Amino acid sequence: MVEKNYGNPELEKKLRDRNYYVTDSNKDFSAEVKKLSGTISHMCYQCGTCTGSCPSAPRSSYRIRVFMRRAILGLEEEALSDPDLWLCTTCYSCSDRCPRDILPTDVIMAMRNLAFKTGHAVPKNFLQTVQLIYKTGHGVPNNDANRAVRERLGLPRDPPTTHTYPEYIPGIQKIIDHYNLKAEADRILSEE
Ligand code: SF4
Ligand code: SF4
Repeated sequence: MVEKNYGNPELEKKLRDRNYYVTDSNKDFSAEVKKLSGTISHMCYQCGTCTGSCPSAPRSSYRIRVFMRRAILGLEEEALSDPDLWLCTTCYSCSDRCPRDILPTDVIMAMRNLAFKTGHAVPKNFLQTVQLIYKTGHGVPNNDANRAVRERLGLPRDPPTTHTYPEYIPGIQKIIDHYNLKAEADRILSEE
């Protein structure tokens, strides 16, 4: 490959290094996001199709494309401390439409896991969801209004989940306890 000479050694070094050329980048963060998400985040070419497909984008400052860029550049602190990280609804529209077959949703999930693991602020409603899943097996448990609708539709009052088979709840609790999620959620919420 012929390398261009711009008369600026620092710039030439940056151009040779296609991924990392900002001072606060962390290569390990990029690698960790890639490993946890299991997707080829480094292949993002910033076309913006993901943001254009995102139901959160028109209603908030959240831009999935920005998080993809942060993943590539290793901008750990910018990604993990940004409250917008928690505005993804995990609808997977972006993943369906990415022309490079990347899964941006899974990049966000990886970043959220890392944010929790490294003690960054997690919104209260996410912590409360952990508590609900621990207790009922559901992030959104059934309620009497839903049961009445289900009955009208000829369905059993409860779906065939842990609502019908509560004997599976201890198994769910075991998984959550393995990662210390419930204890941490309880601790953070009680401190608040
Ligand atoms: S749609 Fe895919 S390639 Fe385009 S910006 Fe989003 S993640 Fe990157
Ligand atoms: S999965 Fe998240 S980032 Fe992707 S389109 Fe849905 S809300 Fe937006």
